[in-house]
Amino acid sequence: MRTKHQPTNQPGTYLLLLQLPEAQQVEVGSLGLLSLKAGWYLYSGSAFGPGGIKARCAHHRKISPRPRWHIDYLRLVAPLREIWFSHDPERREHQWAELVRERRGSQVPQPGFGSSDCDCETHLLYTKQRPSFDGFRRRAYRTVVDHAMIKRESL
Ligand SMILES: [Zn+2]
Repeated sequence: MRTKHQPTNQPGTYLLLLQLPEAQQVEVGSLGLLSLKAGWYLYSGSAFGPGGIKARCAHHRKISPRPRWHIDYLRLVAPLREIWFSHDPERREHQWAELVRERRGSQVPQPGFGSSDCDCETHLLYTKQRPSFDGFRRRAYRTVVDHAMIKRESL
């Protein structure tokens, strides 16, 4: 389902849904060579600098000629299918990573992925089946009182 919701240049938190079509080994910078299963990868991040989520997601939509973040390497082989985002004024990326992780069927493909600068075990979760936006949104609203609206852009 294609939607017209798109992140704006306001700050906020986002979650990228990448689909890896087949199992493969992927070189991810400092983490080295990872063996990744076919399926869905969910990566949480936030953008509180100039250009907000819109500018950051413009980066994630493209393939980086010089990968910098862990996710840039995965992005080389895994198409971006959806962006879930919220312009909530609080930085929610760690909370969102935890929410995805608590979901039944979620696995940690590689500890340390995307979480070099925080205490989370990972900011990348794996799930075999396509994850449910409505399910995630319900859990987020239930867990965080007054969470700002969470939207989805399908690509
Ligand atoms: Zn974190």
